[in-house]
Amino acid sequence: MIEAAQLRKEYRMGQSVVHALDGVDLRIESGEFLSITGPSGSGKSTLMHILGCLDRPTAGSLRFEGQVISALGDKQLARIRNRHIGFVFQTFNLIQRTTALENVCVPLVYTRRSFARATARAALERVGLAHRAKHKPSEMSGGECQRVAIARALVNRPTLILADEPTGNLDTRTGEQIMQIFRDLHAEGITILLVTHELNVAVQAHRMIQMRDGRILEDTAVDEAHRAEIRTLTYDAHQRVFEARGASKPAPAKAAPESAIGGRKEPRPA
Ligand code: ADP
Ligand code: MG
Repeated sequence: MIEAAQLRKEYRMGQSVVHALDGVDLRIESGEFLSITGPSGSGKSTLMHILGCLDRPTAGSLRFEGQVISALGDKQLARIRNRHIGFVFQTFNLIQRTTALENVCVPLVYTRRSFARATARAALERVGLAHRAKHKPSEMSGGECQRVAIARALVNRPTLILADEPTGNLDTRTGEQIMQIFRDLHAEGITILLVTHELNVAVQAHRMIQMRDGRILEDTAVDEAHRAEIRTLTYDAHQRVFEARGASKPAPAKAAPESAIGGRKEPRPA
């Protein structure tokens, strides 16, 4: 689906140059579920924007479904974006003054009005929010807003969804509900690429990419054993925190239901 070779992105800041991407090679097959992790400033968002045709690399080549897109003009890039790619962002990026339904209609500007509304309603249904169609973002919870944003990403029937820290502004439980939606979409055949700094979220993907200083540091397949290991690590981290306080231990991770993967964070101080 995507083939990137030696992608570079440089930002000039006065005299200095920031190498946001410093030679990234990446091949993504249709139907994959990937996560990208890495410290702040390591180039995750830059890479996602370039893969999503929101931005162009300074150097390197990029193919989308076999077509070379690194040198395309704005209009052609926009066409690929609109036809094939859906975006989800940490801060939802919804239009505040209008309803959930109208927000989901936004990518359908060139579609006949009645058809657009029907399509948007179906997308809202798919994320379990049909009953909120007439509500504005300010009347909805963060999790609901993110579901609206996912519905908006879905209306053009994308083959690829790119999500930049989609659970970053949500509490653990709500984040897990959002992750369930991504897992469902992946099961339906949509390719998913998720940027996150949360290990528990990243490990839900089937392939984990770690970035550092504009480069890919690691690119590994994730299996059940790997997920279980991360869960244990998190449990051990819990234990250390609790033991340090002399408090009672948390329930063992083993007893946690499958849905709790990714649902664990450091306990708050009592
Ligand atoms: P991440 O998403 O991993 O936090 P980014 O891709 O946002 O990292 O940024 C990578 C590097 O590029 C950082 O050093 C950041 O400051 C720089 N950068 C990103 N966008 C711009 C921009 N528009 N102008 C200048 N520098 C930028
Ligand atoms: Mg970022």
